[in-house]
Amino acid sequence: MKVSVNQDHCYGSRDCVYRVPSVFTVVDGFGAVIPGREDSGDDPQVRAAAEACPSQAITIAEG
Ligand code: SF4
Repeated sequence: MKVSVNQDHCYGSRDCVYRVPSVFTVVDGFGAVIPGREDSGDDPQVRAAAEACPSQAITIAEG
């Protein structure tokens, strides 16, 4: 499963980075997926971070 961050929705709370620093980072003040970690959508911690994102900017999708 693919994980991505919609930076149009993200407001840079960094919660995702604190939860899963091996997958999420901050670019220009907004959350982003670390290049090469886009296939991390099956990781329970990534799923939890997506559910906890205060702006629902993290998407997990087939792919
Ligand atoms: S938790 Fe959500 S709002 Fe906060 S930085 Fe990550 S993607 Fe953006």
